[in-house]
This record gives sequence, structure tokens and C-alpha cells, in this order.
Amino acid sequence: MEVSSVKKLEQLEFSLDSVTDLSSSSASSSSPAVATFSCVDGVTELRFLQSDSIHCFNFDLASAQLFKLGPVHFICVSDSSGSSEEKSFSQGVNIKFKNDKDSKDFCESFQEWRKDAVVQGSSLQNGTVSANKSKFDNKIEASSAKMYFHYYGQLLHQQNMLQDYVRTGTYYAAVMENRSDFAGRVVVDVGAGSGILSMFAAQAGAKHVYAVEASEMAEYARKLIAGNPLFAERITVIKGKVEDIELPEKADILISEPMGTLLVNERMLESYVIARDRFMSPKGKMFPTVGRIHMAPFSDEFLFIEMANKAMFWQQQNYYGVDLTPLYGSAHQGYFSQPVVDAFDPRLLVASPMFHMIDFTQMKEEDFYEIDIPLKFTASMCTRVHGLACWFDVLFDGSTVQRWLTTAPGAPTTHWYQIRCVLSQPIYVMAGQEITGRLHLIAHSAQSYTIDLTLSAKMWGPGASQGGILQSSTCRFDLKEPYYRMSQPQAYPVAQELPLQPQPELNTQDIQTPNEELEEELLQQPPQNPSAQL
Ligand code: SAH
Repeated sequence: MEVSSVKKLEQLEFSLDSVTDLSSSSASSSSPAVATFSCVDGVTELRFLQSDSIHCFNFDLASAQLFKLGPVHFICVSDSSGSSEEKSFSQGVNIKFKNDKDSKDFCESFQEWRKDAVVQGSSLQNGTVSANKSKFDNKIEASSAKMYFHYYGQLLHQQNMLQDYVRTGTYYAAVMENRSDFAGRVVVDVGAGSGILSMFAAQAGAKHVYAVEASEMAEYARKLIAGNPLFAERITVIKGKVEDIELPEKADILISEPMGTLLVNERMLESYVIARDRFMSPKGKMFPTVGRIHMAPFSDEFLFIEMANKAMFWQQQNYYGVDLTPLYGSAHQGYFSQPVVDAFDPRLLVASPMFHMIDFTQMKEEDFYEIDIPLKFTASMCTRVHGLACWFDVLFDGSTVQRWLTTAPGAPTTHWYQIRCVLSQPIYVMAGQEITGRLHLIAHSAQSYTIDLTLSAKMWGPGASQGGILQSSTCRFDLKEPYYRMSQPQAYPVAQELPLQPQPELNTQDIQTPNEELEEELLQQPPQNPSAQL
């Protein structure tokens, strides 16, 4: 807390006689409360927390104002973010102190903290005054985080996720089928977005839900929740990162949708496990509970040629009189460093998939920095392998029902689609031949991963004992720069369709769930909007 004086550190908290919400239409009950000043992530905040822990009001001190109504009676309001001619306030509370002295001390502290808040928000000649960096800011580039939260601050992107009915419907079913995990419980919605999962939890009878959202979407979530009075009383929206904010009580259950392409893209799973360690009671539950990355080698001549052809542009020796060939190698490498995102036909897989399990209840944040997966498959046909296809699923391990949300090829399409890492040098395999390799994911500060993939074909047949690896191919990809190939899927004239070949086994729903009818209904509709989550 760089900017705080010693005096202020002594005077962080004030106990109040009561605090009540000004904006609430119904006369909300007044109850004793605590006011706390803090500076987190460069934002100086004043927070009022009612002692019954039901209501929490946060004010950004850069825009907060205090009005005295009587010796111990004040109102605190904060400006609406838009600058309008007609001044409006986005939030206000009525506060009463126990005595004159408390009210005087509080006013002094308020003025002092407010000064700092205003200085911090403005830029100085040599840059911007920054407060202590949070865990999130230490590992994530500021420019990446800014773009990321700007993206999620827009309703159209939240709508895109809401319109993925496989996703949203599976969450709804998982919550409703496991009411006993929510009824009467304290819930934290990690990265609440529009607040949809908080409202599912409230529908399932949650005692109280803390909806934590770092982007501007928090304001929309407040509005949406306020418009749903059945739930509004039991949901508190807290604007901030789960790494930085404080909650008044421990949670019985965390709910979140932190999955990106290849499960780990966006690095939000790290925030999910940080939230677990910070907010969840020891016997708490996590929805989802585990995730699995599934992988299988594939053969797709069309895709390979399409990618190679893109780089062919740079093979021209007379482009308006200019020889482009010096850049051909770089362009070729550039295209083959982009993971391909689309929905593909599972018949393109040339071996039974394997999976790597990630247990959200056990993983440490640091475990996500580097994920190393040894690969081993048995080719089910004689073909050319063009790379590795990946998808994921997550499990809601409810007390009543275990439900999987899958993004597998052949299953109803989600906005995550599937992802394929295409090797610039394919390998040739025979039916029965072993394919080995490694998928190595290294997290980077732009909220994504560098992927190193190696696939090798082992010696096969009578000469196998004399040698090891026959061919090997390695490529590096940046998960942050995918190639969205959405005009698919088209009918593939798959080679293996002609003579009947054994198809690799594909387990998409490993655990049987009751209520298959509801599942059918929920999983039927594909997403309406083809653009994928970041
Ligand atoms: N729960 C919503 C939104 C999921 S998208 C739904 O299911 O529809 C993930 C959301 O988490 C985004 O809105 C993003 O802004 C938010 N988020 C990501 N990292 C966060 C963090 N560290 N702290 C708080 N919110 C975060």
C-alpha cells in the first residue's frame, strides 16, 4: 500500500450504527456495519459491510462524495461513470455513526483517502502513480488484461456465451439437478459476467451469492440482478478481481465458467483455484470440479493443403515487380504456428483419444504455469498424420448427479469448437503402429500458452526390435493466435470410408446421468453466434 500514510493505516476501519441502501425501493432494514478504507490494484475504495453480512456497498473514492445531514448522519454517493449534463449517482447509502467523535474521525479519513484516490487516478509527468501490484498484475501484461476485460465488459460477448445453449443449458441442469449443493449455502460466482450463474444458484435456493466480476460487466450484472427481485436480495455483485477483493464469509460452493480453448486458454483457471484458496471453506465444493484435455492424432489433407496454400502467396517472384520469396519461409512458419479452431468430423481421428485430467480441487496456481503431457496412441489405419486434435470436458461432481459438459467432435457444437495443432511436416503411420510424443504447454503473460508439440512414429512390424523412432515432427504454436476456420464443417470424402476401417473409440459422456430427456432437450441447439470466446 505504497501511497498510505502511517496514520491512515491505523484508521482503516470504523464501526457504524447503521448503513442502508438509498437506491433500494423497498425500505431495507438498517443494521450495524463496518466501513473500511483500502487501496487495491491502484483503486482506493470505501466499503460498507453490514454486520449480518447480507449487504456490501463498495465506493470508488475517486468519485465518491460525502454529505452531512446531521451530527451523526451522512449520505455517501458515487458518481455514475458516464458524464451527463444532468448529474446522476450510481449508488448511495445512508450512514449513521454511534457518536460525534466517530463521525468526525471518519470524515477526516474520508477526505485524506479521497485526496490520494484522486492523485492516483491522474497521470504525473513521469507516468502514472501505481499502487502495489496484485498477484494477477504481476504475471499478466497490463495491455493483455486491459483488452481481456474490455472484451468481457461488452454485452455482445456475454450474449455469445449465453447463446451457447450447450454450455449454459448444461450449467443450468448441473445446478438444478444438484439443488442440495446450493440450497441454504453461501456461493461465490468466480468471474460472474452477466451474473447468469449467480441467478442459477439463487434459483436453486442459495442463501447468498457473491458475484465477483472484474470487468465493466459488473455494472450490467447489477442491473440485471436488480431486475430479478426474486434473486436480487440474495446476490451481491462485487466489482474486482478474485485475486484482490475480500469477502465477508467463506463459501460452501464455488461456481464458475473459467474454460478457454484447450481448457486452459485465458489462464482463468488460475483465478478459479486462487478463489478456491481464498474463499472456499475446507469442505466446499467446486462447480465444475475437474476438467480433462482430450487428444488424438488426426489426418486432414484438405486442411493441410489449405494452410500450405496460404503461404504460397509469398512464392511469387514478380509481385508488381517485387520478389516475395525471401519471406516465404517466415509466412509458412507463421501459418503453421496458429492452432486451428473449428468443428471437425470425428472420423478424421486416426487413433483412440487419450486424456489429461486436471483436478480443480487439487491443482495449485503454479501447476498451471507449465503442463507437460506425454502422448501415446495406436494408429487405427494406414495414413498420413497431420497433427494433434484436442478438446476438453468438465465435470460437475454434484451430490445428486454427476454431469459432464463436453466439447468433443461429433457432440453438439459449442462456442469453443475443437482445436487442432497442424504439423508442417506430417508423419506416415501404418495400422497398429504406435505414435508417441509430447504436448508441452508453457503459460505466457498474455493470458495464454506457447504449445510445443512433438509426434513420432515408432518402428513397427518385424524390424521394430532393431530401432526406436522412425519419423518425428515438432512444431511450436501460440494459443493466443488461433486460426478461426468457421466456414466448416463440410462433407469430407474420408479415405477410411471406402473399405470399412475400425473407427477409434470416442467416449464423450463417460458417466451416465439420469434425466436423459432433459439432457436431450438442453443439448439440442447449436450456438447461434459463431464467434468464439477469446
Ligand atoms: N460466468 C459468466 C461469464 C463467464 S466468462 C457466464 O457463465 O456466462 C468469464 C468471466 O470472468 C468474464 O466476464 C471475465 O471478465 C471474468 N473474469 C476473468 N478473470 C477474472 C478475475 N481474475 N477476477 C474476476 N473476474 C474475472
